[in-house]
Order: sequence, then C-alpha cells, then structure tokens
Amino acid sequence: MSLSQGRAYLAIPGPSVMPDAVLQAMHRASPNIYEGELHDLTDSLVPDLKQVAMTDGNVAIYIGNGHAAWEAALANVISAGDTVLVLATGRFGIGWGEMAAGLGAKVETIDYGTQDPIDLAQVEELLSQDKDGRIKAVLAVHVDTSTSVKNDIAGLRAVMNSTGHPALLMADCIASLGCDRFEMDAWGVDVMVAGCQKGLMTPAGVSFVWFNEKANETRGDRVTSYWDWQPRVNPDYYFKYFDGTAPTHHLYGLRTALDMIKAEGLDNVFARHEKLAQIVWAAFDAWSTVGPTQLNVKDPAARSHAVTSVGIGSPNGDALRKWCEQHCGLTLGIGLGRTPADAFFRIGHMGHVNAHMIMGALGTIDAGLKALDIAHGEGALAAAAQALAERA
Ligand SMILES: *Cc1c(COP(=O)(O)O)cnc(C)c1O
Repeated sequence: MSLSQGRAYLAIPGPSVMPDAVLQAMHRASPNIYEGELHDLTDSLVPDLKQVAMTDGNVAIYIGNGHAAWEAALANVISAGDTVLVLATGRFGIGWGEMAAGLGAKVETIDYGTQDPIDLAQVEELLSQDKDGRIKAVLAVHVDTSTSVKNDIAGLRAVMNSTGHPALLMADCIASLGCDRFEMDAWGVDVMVAGCQKGLMTPAGVSFVWFNEKANETRGDRVTSYWDWQPRVNPDYYFKYFDGTAPTHHLYGLRTALDMIKAEGLDNVFARHEKLAQIVWAAFDAWSTVGPTQLNVKDPAARSHAVTSVGIGSPNGDALRKWCEQHCGLTLGIGLGRTPADAFFRIGHMGHVNAHMIMGALGTIDAGLKALDIAHGEGALAAAAQALAERA
C-alpha cells in the first residue's frame, strides 16, 4: 500500500508548483501569430515583468531556460578577453562563471563555499585594488538554489560604489524573483536574469534578461543576432520580440501567473514566502537538536525564502527523498552540487505554495525521519504550527 495517491507536491526548487489557472490558460489552440490577441498579450507582459523586477529598464524575453538567459546576458556585454569577477556561493554561481569562460571571458572566481554568503568586505578590498578597472562585470547569484544561500545584492552595489568601481553588477534571480524581495533599480543592478518556472509559476521554457542603459551601452563583441537583446526590447515588428515564432502558450500561462502575482500584491507575495520559510526553519530548529539534520545556512538573514537546503548525513538525504515520494507524494530536491549528494536534500517553497502545503511537507518529513530511524529532535511540527499561528 502507498499513501501517495492524490495531489502530489513537487517541492523541488524549480520547476515549482504551477497554479491550475496557469495550466488552463495554456490549454487552447494555437493563436494567430501575425496579429490580434497574442500581440496585445505580449505587449502587456512587458510592463508587468518590469514591475516584478522593480525596474524602469528594459526586459528581453527568450525562448529558453535559465541557462539561455545566463548566456544572453553575458553575450550582450562581454567581449573576448574581458575579466569578470564571479562571487560564488554554490553551484549556480560557478556555472554562470563557466559560461562566461566559454564565451571567452577571463573569469576570476571567489568561492565562498556552500554555506556562507558573499563577504562584502573582501569584495571591497579586491575592487579597490583594481585601479584601472580591469574587471568588467561582477556576477552574483541572489539566491543560490543549491545551497539556499541568499546574498545581499544591495550591499554588493554599496561596496562597488564605495570603491568607485565602474564594473557592471549582474545578478541571477532565477530562484528568487517573485519570492525574495528584489529591487533592481533601487539596488543598482545593471543586468538581471530569471526564468519563468520558479517564482513565476509557469512551465519551464521562457527566460528573461532585464538591463539598464549602462549595460546596453556596454556592447560586447560576443553577441550574435539571435541573442541580441536590442531588437527584443524594441521590436519594429512582432516577429522581433522572439526572433521567430513566439512561445505562444507560455505567454498565455505567464500572463495568468503575472495577473495572480498582481492580484495578491508583490509585497504580500514576499511576505508569504518569508513566513513559509520561517515555518520550515522552525521545524528544522527542533529536528536538529538531536541527530544529523542541520539547516545548511546558519544566519537566517542569509537564507532564501524560496528554498531550504538541509544536511542530513549520507545516505539519509536520498533515503528520505525516496520515502517521502513513494509513500506520501512529496518530492523533495536532491543535494545538487553537494558532496556526497546523498547527504543533503532541499525543500522548494517557491511560487504557488501555501501554509497547508508546507505543514503537509513538514509532517511528511517528520514521518520519514521516524520510519527511517534517522535520529531527530521532537516537537518540530508543534514548533512549525506555533510559527504559523504567530502570523506576521
Ligand atoms: C534554476 C536555476 C538556474 C538554471 O536555470 P535552468 O532553467 O535550469 O537553466 C540558474 N540559476 C539559479 C539560481 C537557478 O535557481
């Protein structure tokens, strides 16, 4: 017998749980791509995409995943031989840096490991030594999905400003947009990338690059016509938005997802994610009093509100994931980029997620710890319920 029948919860940190309304909006015949509703719908996405990123800058839409947005962002600003500084706090920062190297950049990486955020004082020191502005761009991941470390992007801009360094600040918000507060213009971010399948609650396949005028003027020599962001933000005819056929159904889904975010209110979306994260942490604080379970990030200020990475000792991570999926219909995330991977797991709590889903996930994990005889402190569910009862 399995108790997994019923509505499953895909609690991996992306793709996230999708609202039925988004899927229903996509369930239609292909629209006319030459005129009419699809054109108006696409136009209507642009201001709303700028609003979720809190920018008056530009947004280019690509048919692709987050990696496509990574490459698009870099290709538009990097020239062969340029130096980029990568501030890595997990697998995704490293990956973006590898992509920059593949485009011909010289990549300097400061690797903060798998549990700590960027050390701003160290970055300040390094930038102040770069007197002739060798570093063209600073790459940082807002929330690294492998470690669940959240970086202080506004603080990073502050140290760049205090040293007077002219580099572009490029941020990966693929895991954080629409979950953790991010204010592109107020925080001084020049280029930002995101995908549609995480906080934006739409099936994977569309990604975005937001950029300001400074970034636009920093024209690199690596860009080819398909990845060029200029025609996409300033299309003289519809075809140019996507340099080809539009991702028709994704656009309908995204329209609905953005409508839902608007209806809830972006501040409420951030507050919901924050509260849900606190409920998760409350449970782990109790579990981790006994046995191997540990939240990956010690400082709550450096923890994502969209994903929580947990160390639990090898092979407990894999065992717990399998148990929760097979017996209860809860799919947890793998220990991506960690060694050994089976000593870790992650809980995605991003996007279309509410309190009863989180309570259900935590109850399932509690049962899994017991079923698998993994030592753990008691009282986790009571602590989670208390955190929920004390609603902000
Ligand atoms: C998911 C993710 C990516 C990669 O996105 P894909 O759509 O899988 O290419 C990059 N960076 C971060 C922070 C992510 O969470």
